[in-house]
Amino acid sequence: MGYIEVRNLKKEYRTDKVSFEALKGIDMDIQSGEVLSILGPSGCGKSTLLNCLSGIDDPSSGKVIIGGTDVHALKDDSKTYFRAVNMGFVFQFYNLIPVLNVIENVELAMLASGRKEKESREAARNVLERVGLEDRLFYYPSNLSGGERQRVSIARALVHTPKIIWADEPTGALDTETGKKIMELIINLNQEYGQTFVIVTHDERISNYSDRILKMDSGMIVENIILKDKRN
Ligand code: ADP
Repeated sequence: MGYIEVRNLKKEYRTDKVSFEALKGIDMDIQSGEVLSILGPSGCGKSTLLNCLSGIDDPSSGKVIIGGTDVHALKDDSKTYFRAVNMGFVFQFYNLIPVLNVIENVELAMLASGRKEKESREAARNVLERVGLEDRLFYYPSNLSGGERQRVSIARALVHTPKIIWADEPTGALDTETGKKIMELIINLNQEYGQTFVIVTHDERISNYSDRILKMDSGMIVENIILKDKRN
């Protein structure tokens, strides 16, 4: 039993003539506060898995239970709300809103989860300080480096104190040194706040920062590698 329980999760993509099984029955448990990497080559189904875990996409069959809630049994509105409150997202290409400045991008995640404006601005300022961007609050994304943009998106993922952060190739668009710094930041934040991080990557150097690695190949989990045992 884990905080996130995944049972026989399958995803089939159908086009006119062919169907393709991108997830072939995934079973796994993720503990609360764990930093888990899902490691595998391009095309093995990592993003599909992450999207089905977070409820962005629907699996063809199987279950995802998060803190006792069967995510895919929720109606669309409740699922959206569940996501907004419980989850934060970090993407390879940051997905920042170009017409909003740094602090506005971050506070938006607070407003989306139903918090008041003043509280949202305060929380955004605090978390941006925590990721080292206190002197970039009123910059626009286009005036930031890749590493800075990813720090904004990490601040956005964390600001509403969700229980889970999903990160899809968070260092994929960054040079090696900046990628290392982003992973160090993630690990420090996990130690400080105890959120669960699930990170998808094709890069073993990145996955080595985590507590545990699940290796994936052709829609299946093929290996479970424990690097740090946090259960005690
Ligand atoms: P990864 O994240 O590991 O690179 P993906 O989850 O993106 O892998 O893709 C897994 C497989 O599913 C790939 O072969 C990809 O071509 C296929 N796939 C992904 N999305 C779709 C889609 N919307 N329609 C059809 N096939 C898809």
